[in-house]
Amino acid sequence: MSTQTLSYAIDEHDHLIRVDEGYYRFAEENGWEEAATSLGRSLWDYVAGHEMVKLQRLLVRRVRNELGDVELPFRCDGPSVRREMNIRIVARPGGRVVLFSARTRHEEPRDSPQWLLDPATPRSDEVLEMCGWCDRFEVDGEWVEVEEAARRLELFNKAELPAISHGICPDCNEMLLAA
Ligand SMILES: [Zn+2]
Repeated sequence: MSTQTLSYAIDEHDHLIRVDEGYYRFAEENGWEEAATSLGRSLWDYVAGHEMVKLQRLLVRRVRNELGDVELPFRCDGPSVRREMNIRIVARPGGRVVLFSARTRHEEPRDSPQWLLDPATPRSDEVLEMCGWCDRFEVDGEWVEVEEAARRLELFNKAELPAISHGICPDCNEMLLAA
């Protein structure tokens, strides 16, 4: 039986300041040897891929500055399991500390990386348009915040993220033309 919940927290510099038992168990079950030295290190050292770091940083900034609290589905496969989790990200009131707590929604064994053949796996030539001014993303012709884009496109469930291309949304374009 594998770990069902884990949590961790970061300080205002995005350094890991607290991890719980579940975090260490989860790390052990997934063969992740660096876990013991996590405390004090940057959260972003542990996020794979440039685009994913960009998206998650934006999300953390939104949680700190505006949302306070968000819950999103994400995919976190282990060496031999396909695992769907939910993560809740909460900013502590008044502070810059952010808490993350994740729980497993669904888990099933996998003995080969079948997702590679899954037609739902995105092709790497997909492009996600992001407005360089307001940091919103275009989804089906609509400009939405990062958490909404992540929800609608299931960004954190994908094995491979689309490339992010920087542009400008019509609202910002209009604002700049009027300035
Ligand atoms: Zn914009």
